[in-house]
Amino acid sequence: MRPEILFPLFAPVTRLKGVGPRVQPLVERLAGPLVRDLAFLAPTGVIRRRPMTASDAVEGEVGIFRLRIDRLIPPHKIGAPFRMRASDDSGFVHLIWFAGSPQQIERLAPPGSERIVSGKVERFNGEVQVPHPDYILPPERADEIPMSEPVYPATQGLTSRQVRKLVIAALEAAPDLAEWQDAAWIGARGWPRWRAALEAVHAPQSEFDLSDEAPARQRLAFDELLAHQLALARRRRARLIEPAPVIAPGQASETLLAALPFVLTGAQAQAVAEIRADLASGWRMGRLLQGDVGSGKTAVAALALADAAFSGFQGALMAPTEILARQHHERLGPLLQAAGVSSILLTGRDGAAERRQKLQALLDGSAQVAVGTHALFQDAVRFDRLALAIVDEQHRFGVSERQRLQAKGDPRLGGVHLLSMSATPIPRTLELTQYGELDVSRLTEKPPGRTPVTTAVLPLARIGDVARRLKAAIDEGAQAYWICPLVAESEASDLAAAEARAVDLRRILGVEVGLAHGQMDGAERERVMADFADGRLPLLVATTVVEVGVDVPNATIMVIEHADRFGLAQLHQLRGRVGRGAKASACILLYGGGPDGTLGETARERLDMLRHSEDGFEIAEADFRLRGGGDPLGLKQSGFPAYRFADPIRHRALMLAAADDARMLLDRDPELTSPRGRTVQVLEELFDWRAQRPGTD
Ligand code: ADP
Ligand code: MG
Repeated sequence: MRPEILFPLFAPVTRLKGVGPRVQPLVERLAGPLVRDLAFLAPTGVIRRRPMTASDAVEGEVGIFRLRIDRLIPPHKIGAPFRMRASDDSGFVHLIWFAGSPQQIERLAPPGSERIVSGKVERFNGEVQVPHPDYILPPERADEIPMSEPVYPATQGLTSRQVRKLVIAALEAAPDLAEWQDAAWIGARGWPRWRAALEAVHAPQSEFDLSDEAPARQRLAFDELLAHQLALARRRRARLIEPAPVIAPGQASETLLAALPFVLTGAQAQAVAEIRADLASGWRMGRLLQGDVGSGKTAVAALALADAAFSGFQGALMAPTEILARQHHERLGPLLQAAGVSSILLTGRDGAAERRQKLQALLDGSAQVAVGTHALFQDAVRFDRLALAIVDEQHRFGVSERQRLQAKGDPRLGGVHLLSMSATPIPRTLELTQYGELDVSRLTEKPPGRTPVTTAVLPLARIGDVARRLKAAIDEGAQAYWICPLVAESEASDLAAAEARAVDLRRILGVEVGLAHGQMDGAERERVMADFADGRLPLLVATTVVEVGVDVPNATIMVIEHADRFGLAQLHQLRGRVGRGAKASACILLYGGGPDGTLGETARERLDMLRHSEDGFEIAEADFRLRGGGDPLGLKQSGFPAYRFADPIRHRALMLAAADDARMLLDRDPELTSPRGRTVQVLEELFDWRAQRPGTD
C-alpha cells in the first residue's frame, strides 16, 4: 500500500498549475503521467550566466547586460534579421532576431528604455551580437534572471523553460522522507539526503553537477538501483517459499554420470551441486545456468533430468528450434536410456498418430523426460507429474512461453522447478538487472580437449586470400561457416548480399554451398542446417540466424564478413561454433571499416579483444565498456528497465552494492518491519518497479 506521504507525488500531472488538456500529453511524453515523473525528470544541461559589458563580452558564453536601447534597424533585405542596437558605456551590443515583428520587438525593448538582456554572445565583424536574447526585462525585474538555469528535454509545444516551471511545481509536492539508506554508507560518500539530492539535481551549477559522478545524482541513482534490486530480491524470496517437489540425487544420475564419455569439469560439478541443492530443498528452484557456447550445459541439464525421473517425476527440456531439440534428444536419449530413464522428442513435425502416442506417454507418466520445441507448451500437452522445466537458449523464449511450460505442473505437487540456460555472456551488472530474481550458476571453465580458436582480423580487401585458403582447407575435408551480417536498415539488400556471396563462393571454390537466413521458411532453413551438421555441405553461408547451440565438431573455420558491425558478445558467440572438435580451428574477422577501409581505434580495440580472449564474460564486460553508451546488447527490447538516474555502465559499482544491500536487508528483515525496513518500503513505492516490469522467473 502506498503511504499517504507519497500521495502528492503520485497525483496526475494535471494536478499541477499550467497542465491542461493541451500540455498534459506533452508532459506525459516527456516525463510520464505522474507528478513524480516530472520531479524525476533530470535536466540534461545547464545555462550559466554572468554579468558582462559590451567591451568584455566573451564569445560563446551567456552574458547578462544592462543596456540602453537605441534604435531598431530594419532588415536590409527580405529574409535578413531584425536588429536592435543597444549600448552601455563601453560600447554597442546588437540584439538580433531572425523571426518576429518590429512591433513585437519594440514592445519588449522600446527605444530609449533601459533593459537587462541575457543571451549567448557572438562576435561578428568586430561587433558584439546577441541573437534571440533569452531574457529582456526592465531593470527592476533583473532578479528574475537566474545565474544558472537547468535545461530540460523539450518538445514541440513545450519549451525547456516551461518544463522547468512544471518541474519546480512538482518538486514542491516532494515531501521530506525519512532516510532509508544506511547512515554510514551515506556519510562515507558525502551524499545529501533524498529531498536535498532531488533539489540539487534540479539546480546544477556546472557540467560536473550533471554528470554521473555528482553526489546528488549518485545518491538518486543508488536509491533507484536499490529499489529495483529490492523488487527483484523480493520476487526471489517469494519463490524461495513456494513449495515444490523434492528431487533427490539418485542412482539414475550416477549411472548417467558413469555413462558420459568424459568427466565433468570443476565448473560443471559445481553447477550440478548447486542445482541439486535447490531441487532437494522442497522450495521452487529458479536458476540461470550461464555458460559460453561449448561449456557443457547439456550434461548438467541431463543430470538434473535424471534426478527428477529417479525421484518419480517428469522433466522437460525445451529448445528454440527443431534442429536443436533433435540434437539434444539424439545425445541425451541414449544416455538417459542407459540410466533407465525413458524420453520422447516432441516437435511440431510429428505425425498425428506418433504425436497422439507421445502425448499419451506424457500423460500417463510412461515418458519421464520430454525434449522438444515450442510444441511442448501447447495446450494439448499434459504431464502426469512435471517437476522440472529446463529452457535452453532461454532468451529465445518469451516470459509467457516459459510460464506456460511451468504451468503444466500439477499444483498438488507444488511449483515446477525452472532451470534457464543461456550462452549469451552478459556482464554481471546486466545479469543483476535482468535476472536479479534468479540464482545463477556459471560455467567459467571450458571442457578439456578443446583446441583454442585462432582469430585473425583482416580488411575486407583480403577476401580473395581468405577464399583461397578456405578452398585448400575444404579440399582437405574441413567444413566452414561464412557469416554475412544483417543490418536492420535494409534487410532486403543485406539478404541479396548474402545470396550473392553464396553464388560467388560456389563459383570460386567449386563446392556446394548452403545458404541459411532469417527470411527462409523455418523447415527449409533447418534442412540446410541439418545438411551442414551431417557433413553433406562443406560450406554454409548464413546470416546470424544460424542456431547458436548446434554442434558441428567438423566445422573448423568461420569467416565473418563486416565483423565491425557486430557486437563483441555476438562475435564471440558466433565464433563459439568452431573449435568444438579436436582439430585446430580458425576464425577470420573481415572488417569493412570506414569509407577509406580503415578501422577506428575503438573498433580496432574491440576486434583485437577477440584475438586475445576466449572468455565470454571477459569479452562481454569489455564490449560493454568499449561501447560505452547506447544499447549494444539490444537490452531495451528485452525488457531492460528504463532507469531515470542510474546508468548500468557508469554506476556499475553502485549496482553491485545495491544488489548486496537488497539481499542482505531482506535476509535480516524479510517483511521490512524494522525501522529501516519501513523507510525502505517508502523507497520501493517511490520507484514502483513492480508496475513496470514483468517477471523473468
Ligand atoms: P553448450 O550447450 O554449453 O554449448 P554442450 O553441452 O553442447 O555445450 O557441450 C559441448 C561439447 O562439449 C559437447 O560435445 C559435449 O559432449 C562436450 N563436453 C561437455 N562437457 C564435457 C567435459 N566435461 N569434458 C569433455 N567434453 C565435454
Ligand atoms: Mg547447448
